[in-house]
Order: sequence, then C-alpha cells, then structure tokens
Amino acid sequence: MHDRYDAIVLGLGGMGSAAAAHIALRGKRVLGLEQFTPAHDRGSSHGASRIIRQAYFEDPAYVPLLLRAYELWQELERTSDEPLYLRTGGLMVGRMDSALVQGSLRSAREHGLEHELLSATDIARRFPATAPRDNEVAVYEKPAGILFPEACVRAYLKAAGAVGADLRFETPVQKWQASDNGVDVTLTSGERVTGNSLVVCAGAWLPQMAAELALPLRVERNVVHWFQPRSNPELFTPDKLPVYILDRGQRFMLYGFPDVEFAGIKAAFHHSEIFASPEEMKRTVAPDEVDAVRDALAQWLPRGAGQHLASSVCMYTLTPDLHFVIGKHPAHANVIIAGGFSGHGFKFCSVVGETIADLVVEGESFNTIELFSPTRFGALT
Ligand SMILES: Cc1cc2nc3c(=O)[nH]c(=O)nc-3n(C[C@H](O)[C@H](O)[C@H](O)COP(=O)(O)OP(=O)(O)OC[C@H]3O[C@@H](n4cnc5c(N)ncnc54)[C@H](O)[C@@H]3O)c2cc1C
Repeated sequence: MHDRYDAIVLGLGGMGSAAAAHIALRGKRVLGLEQFTPAHDRGSSHGASRIIRQAYFEDPAYVPLLLRAYELWQELERTSDEPLYLRTGGLMVGRMDSALVQGSLRSAREHGLEHELLSATDIARRFPATAPRDNEVAVYEKPAGILFPEACVRAYLKAAGAVGADLRFETPVQKWQASDNGVDVTLTSGERVTGNSLVVCAGAWLPQMAAELALPLRVERNVVHWFQPRSNPELFTPDKLPVYILDRGQRFMLYGFPDVEFAGIKAAFHHSEIFASPEEMKRTVAPDEVDAVRDALAQWLPRGAGQHLASSVCMYTLTPDLHFVIGKHPAHANVIIAGGFSGHGFKFCSVVGETIADLVVEGESFNTIELFSPTRFGALT
C-alpha cells in the first residue's frame, strides 16, 4: 500500500518548482520528483541570470502573463532568503524596422507599457559602455531586469516544502500511465507512486516523458559566456548598463547582462541551431564559440569584451512556432503538460506555476493560454 497524492509534479526545475509550490499552497498533497539535485546545472534553469522584460517583441499576447509574473515574483521574493530580481532596465536594440524593435514597440503600445524610443545618440549618452551604430535605435523599458534562476528555484522549493510538499531529488521517473481514476508513476528504482493528477514539467526531457504526444520539439544547445571588462569596469555595473538584446541582422541576436557583483559581464547568442538530446549534449565549450561571442560583444560593448572568465552550456526546448506548450493532455484531462519554453520561458515560471495550479485544482485558468495549446501542431487529439 502506498500513499496517494493529489498531484505529482514530474521535474522540479524552473516550471516544476513553481507548480509544486502553487499547488501545495492551495492545500493539496503534492509529490515532486526530480532526477537531479535542487537548482542543478544540467537542465535549462541555471547560469546565474535570466532577462525579465515586459515589452515583449515575441507577441503582445504574452504581456498580461508577464504583468502577472512580475506580481508573483515579488510575492515569492518576500518569503525568499535571497534576492530574486534586480531591476536594471532593458534595451532592445536594432534598426527601426527590425522585428525586435517593431515587436517591442507593438507590445508596449498595445498594452500601454511605459517605454522610451532612444536614438543612437541617446543610447550612447545614457549608457556609455555601449557603441550603437548610427542607424540603430532602442526600445528602453525600466521594469526590465534580471531574475536569479537558481535562487528562484530554491525559493519555490522552500515555499512548497513549507506547506508540506514531499520533494524527492535524485529520483528519476521512468514512466507514467494515466486513467480516469488517476495516474500511476514508476520510478527508475522500481517504486510506484499514485496521484489524482500529474504535471509534466520535464524541460528538455519532455520528448521522452510525453512521447505519445509526438510533440515536434527540438532540444538546442546554447552556451553563455562571462568576460572581464577590458577597462572602465564602473561602466558595466547594473546601475550603468541595462540588460539588452541586440539585433544586427546577423544569424543570431546577441543578448547580455551587466556585471553583477563583479562576476563578469555575461553574453550569449540567442539560438545556435545545434540540436542534440540532453544525453548527447556536448558540455565542453570550444575556443571558437567563445571568440564568436566576444567578437560580437566587442562591436557593442568595446570596453567589455576582455578576458574570458567562464562558459556554461544550457538547453532550449524549441517548438516550431517558438510559443510554449501549456495545457491538459488531450487524452487525459488529469495530466498537465508544460514545456517547449523555446529559450524564453524562465521569466514566466511564476505565472506558469499559478496557471498549472489553476488547471489542477479548478480545471481551468483565468490566465490566457490559448496560444500554448498542446494540440496546435496536429499532434494526438
Ligand atoms: C542559456 C539560456 C538562456 C536563457 N535565457 C532566458 C532569459 O534571459 N529569460 C527567460 O525568460 N528565459 C530564458 N531562458 C529559458 C528558460 O531558462 C527556460 O525556458 C526555463 O528555464 C525552462 O524551465 P523548465 O522547467 O521547462 O526546464 P528545467 O528547469 O530544465 O526543468 C526540467 C526538470 O525536469 C527534470 N526531469 C526531466 N526528466 C525527468 C525525469 N524523468 N525524472 C525526474 N526529473 C526529470 C530535469 O532534471 C529538470 O530539473 C534561457 C535558457 C537558456 C538555456
């Protein structure tokens, strides 16, 4: 005989830790299962920093979710032992006709978000570390900033544990089965656990953990790098340099962060088009990968691209349209799928956790998730 839980959460990374906390905070008995250790560096939610912003170039439909995400992060931070968010402002830089600038303006205008459109001269004057080109502009938004992902995950795990969630680490799930009566989860140890519902937040492992859905997901290798500024370190502190995304019409956009506590400035390309399963993912970083980012960085932050300090490999789980997958499993209403966050999901963990709790506890959510339907690719219906 074993215990039956109200909800089992498979994966306690960014989304799963938030889901476990939000469900447990509604008085439900939660079991969280994670194959690695708390806030580990083998998935998609590590590397010290994540950009959070509101004037969302990807689609204005994300803005209401972002506004709610900000509120929920603030709520969580009140119970956290460590800071979760640092406001730096954010610069979306490119030519006036770039998708980045146009998309950011569209979201800002449609949702009445406070923002400024800066000329190249304005950018260089206000943020002296930067070297914008004459034909570049930037959408500047003040609430943009940095989330500290490991601290966010730890805070959600703490919140879940504080209300009695049973969180098990180094406990890989082998398979699950659902019926109208509940879900049956088998661990690789052979142990079986049961629950009324299951939440699958398996990140880059979603293709294996929801294989029957045949979601068209691809796991992309993405590497971030830290550099020591070459000179004038005072220009790179979070009060002087906002987070930024830079579209210079090259293959991949460059994005980056100011120097938080003199750990170096972090920069990376958004996307790589190098795909592999998590098991086959190359974890070492070649010198030419560092050089490519340093060269791009030197064109934008000329005094920034100094000595290479560190690199870290991370995974994006991409959908074909780069929108998320959040919703009920089409064949099992008691199974919730949350994945395919396509390299821009972390800022949403808080609101995704709330949405999943709505779906588990109420059966529906006030947060708008139509864009994210698991069946939109014509998969199993
Ligand atoms: C380099 C990089 C930069 C990024 N930058 C940003 C950014 O600036 N802003 C932003 O908003 N987003 C950003 N993202 C995206 C964001 O970090 C991800 O969308 C988000 O972290 C995904 O969370 P997740 O919970 O789906 O995955 P994860 O956090 O990886 O969680 C999945 C968990 O499931 C566990 N798991 C899987 N299978 C099993 C199993 N069988 N049994 C038990 N446990 C299992 C895994 O171990 C893992 O802990 C970035 C991502 C990367 C890689």
